[in-house]
Amino acid sequence: MRYLFFPLTLLLCFTLNVPAFAQQPPNVILLIGDGMGVPQVSSAFYFGEGTPHFQRFTKIGLVKTNSVSNKVTDSAAAATAIATGVRSYNRAISVSPDTVAVPTILEQLREEYGYRTGLVSLTSITHATPACFYAHVADRDQHEDIAAHLVGSGVDFFAGGGLDYFRRRSDGRDLYRELAAQGYRLDSLQLSAADPDRKNGYLLAPESLPSKVEGRGDFLPDAARMGLDYLSHQEAPFFFMVEGSYIDWAGHAENDTMLIREVADFDKTLGILLDYVEEHPNTLLIVTADHETGGVSLAKSYHSQVVFGQRKEIPDEVAVSFNSNQHSAELVPIFAKGAGEDHFPGIYQNNEIFTRLLRAVRTEQ
Ligand SMILES: [Zn+2]
Repeated sequence: MRYLFFPLTLLLCFTLNVPAFAQQPPNVILLIGDGMGVPQVSSAFYFGEGTPHFQRFTKIGLVKTNSVSNKVTDSAAAATAIATGVRSYNRAISVSPDTVAVPTILEQLREEYGYRTGLVSLTSITHATPACFYAHVADRDQHEDIAAHLVGSGVDFFAGGGLDYFRRRSDGRDLYRELAAQGYRLDSLQLSAADPDRKNGYLLAPESLPSKVEGRGDFLPDAARMGLDYLSHQEAPFFFMVEGSYIDWAGHAENDTMLIREVADFDKTLGILLDYVEEHPNTLLIVTADHETGGVSLAKSYHSQVVFGQRKEIPDEVAVSFNSNQHSAELVPIFAKGAGEDHFPGIYQNNEIFTRLLRAVRTEQ
């Protein structure tokens, strides 16, 4: 009987899929271009220098974005669908249509697999897109409540704006101090070097950071690189969400220069994330959008004067044109690279991004 014991244990290990034989679940990086439809991505191919990093993907799909309340979604309902797998109403922050909190991908990966977590945004960190990963409130404008949820969230690294919702609150609480008391190293002035052994938070503006045309500089690529360095410093896998927020705002402002520069900044950030995935194969990078903004198209470009009642086309130019200053119902692209990338090509509803992410994590480990 003693001689039988060892092979029997081995056999049991194989049949039960004992964790000692499994590899660590993959890191997940989610890069969200707020308002980034196919036309916005296309702008990188006509206005940038060199080949856009978008072209490095081979696994691509399209995503339907409508919410349960509106054909044209807002960022809150879309981010709720992506973050929780549950479709909800416009303005919902990771709550179901009957306003019940739904666990987010960030929360699930941390609780089930011990992921470390990070969030980067160009808006207030309490704005709809980042908020949907850690907060649960009925309306996106509850910025002070959302900020309070961040304090209890255990997120390891965050960078963005929104300092006022932590320090200048109607209830008198100083959340900045509460975060510090929980051991966070905080900076409200600059992206100073992260402390690898503590949680780190950067709240660099009272509300949103400036846009590229207003002089934001390299905050987005720098924060992405810093977050990756920090999160990969420890053994545990990580979940890292980065949002290029101003592509949406360029659509609302119907500002072509702003759109082109924000997409270029996004693509530069994408290059850093793709390099990381190529060097760390047990990582999954997903790039997508919550919705398109502006009904943008890259249309023919014309000379400003009209000659004999006809506008004259400039044959070697295209122009960014806007159909409205609002979100649209267009399908948005999704790109995947790395561990589990095969789960993402296709055409599907935005809440399936969540399901496919979880499936990818579970099958790749
Ligand atoms: Zn918007």
